[in-house]
Amino acid sequence: MQNFSLQKNKGKKIGEFNTLIPYLRKHKIALLFGSIFTIFTNVIALYSPLILKQIIDFLQEKASKEVILEQVWIFLGIAFISGVFKFAMRQTTVVVSRKIEFEFLNDYLKHLQSLPISFFNKNRTGDLMALGTNDLSSVRNVLGPGIMYTTNTLVTFCTALYFMIGISSTLTFFALLPFPLMSILTWSLIRVNHKNTALKQEQFGRINSTAQENLSGIRVIKAYVQEALEIQKFDKLSFDYLKKNMAVTIVSGGMHAGLAFLTALGFCGILWVGGKMVITGEITLGSFVAFNTYLTMLVWPMIAFGWVMNIFQQGYTSLGRINKVLHTIPDEENVTEKLDKNSPIDIEFKNVSFGYEPNETVLQNINLKLPAGTSLGIVGKIGSGKTSLVNLLSRLYEVGEGEILLNGKNIQSYTLKDVREIIGCVLQETFLFSDSIANNIRFGVPDEQMDKVLETAELSQLKENIDEFPMKFETILGERGITLSGGQKQRTAIARALIKQPKVLILDDSLSAVDTQTEDEILKGLKKVMESRTTLIVAHRISTVQNCDKIIVIEEGKISEEGTHEELLNLGGTYFEFHERQLLQEELVETE
Ligand code: ADP
Repeated sequence: MQNFSLQKNKGKKIGEFNTLIPYLRKHKIALLFGSIFTIFTNVIALYSPLILKQIIDFLQEKASKEVILEQVWIFLGIAFISGVFKFAMRQTTVVVSRKIEFEFLNDYLKHLQSLPISFFNKNRTGDLMALGTNDLSSVRNVLGPGIMYTTNTLVTFCTALYFMIGISSTLTFFALLPFPLMSILTWSLIRVNHKNTALKQEQFGRINSTAQENLSGIRVIKAYVQEALEIQKFDKLSFDYLKKNMAVTIVSGGMHAGLAFLTALGFCGILWVGGKMVITGEITLGSFVAFNTYLTMLVWPMIAFGWVMNIFQQGYTSLGRINKVLHTIPDEENVTEKLDKNSPIDIEFKNVSFGYEPNETVLQNINLKLPAGTSLGIVGKIGSGKTSLVNLLSRLYEVGEGEILLNGKNIQSYTLKDVREIIGCVLQETFLFSDSIANNIRFGVPDEQMDKVLETAELSQLKENIDEFPMKFETILGERGITLSGGQKQRTAIARALIKQPKVLILDDSLSAVDTQTEDEILKGLKKVMESRTTLIVAHRISTVQNCDKIIVIEEGKISEEGTHEELLNLGGTYFEFHERQLLQEELVETE
């Protein structure tokens, strides 16, 4: 059962951007300064055409060299001050966008860590990684260049317009004629690109997932000589990505070209009308040059407007994708009890049923009592539901019907953290991190001393093996280090569970990759440890569970037999058959 739900997006269109409000609030001072610097940069820069006008008019009037030089110095001064503000503007807005990106990424990862396993079963790793890289980068563009150029555009547009009207309102009217067309063009193409961008980003997620699976599964691919086929598959995905990227580029390219054409059209009109005005003496040549400089300054905001819209639209699409994950919230915990982590734990399954999908039954009506300090062996065919049963105890999934009781109280009345802290679980699939063996063992208790690491390694029969490595327990595992054998991995995982000194110990088929003699040694070592703990051992070898206080046989999600080793043998049912078959197999191996 999934224990998370999709929170409804409260906002409408702007809704996706709501996620950014807390971050923007946090950096409001820097953003305010950024906006002030942006306004200054633009307003100051807009004085240069006025100086240019003066210089040209002075030249026409054949003014003295000193007067013209003075204007040139003012012109240079304005350029310098505007440059300084431009630097300050970039330093504030771009730095803020980087900081928000950093905080957002951390929050995104924190949120991912809080989501239940069922979420990760439904979402591919590569997709989730793409959201934290490619999509987040689109969001950052909104915060940095997006905000900066929007302010830029607005300020330049308003101020340039003010100066242009000052020169000639008629000329300004003609200059603005193409602008409505420009807006229509921009808006309509942006709508088209919204869909294209979503498709592009989804495809990037697919590529990321495939690349990640390819690299993780590189050994299998090589062993089955599937390199060519995998390359071909990847090639197809990349080509699709290229096509989707092209679709976005073609539309935004068309938008830029259209804007440039309409701008050129505007200029033609201005030259025609303005030229006439200069000839008739309505405006001076200097004013006409200044007017054209303002118009050129307006063109950039217009083009930037298209570009900024593109940034906003891509950021909006990406944020929408990220929000789907962020709005997926784990169900609220209904905590009423405190779990005593120092005393042994009683476990009871009461009419428990469970399925991964709503109408599926993987476990049916499980009733089971496990007094504190006792051990339970779980056997059954592959796929009968053994792992599902122990996963319910770790609350990796929540029960469908019925309840699991810890010390007589519903497991859901304790915090997830409390439950997981008292459980030491050795999962069926061992995952070791690219870190030293010692750190892998003390993963759950990072501050644990080395003597404890050695002690648990000895208990899980790992120490002798590791002592043979030159760096011993400091040997690095994984991509940049060595690879342990299947049995060594399992024993490392057992040590990792034991070092936590859990009150409940779960071994999920954790001895399958070790030989029977080592298994015997481990079980002997565990016997003492298990005395004060409640232990659940899932196994496919009878020898692993035969000394357990109680053994259950699971068949098709139901408990079919229950008792001690002797009781179950006397019953002459499935357990007895398992036992006979295994004895026969052992005899066959011995006579070979
Ligand atoms: P066992 O441990 O006895 O081999 P499992 O508990 O792993 O059995 O599986 C029981 C059933 O649940 C199987 O049919 C399996 O395909 C299904 N199953 C196991 N894990 C998942 C999962 N994460 N999502 C959907 N179905 C699953």
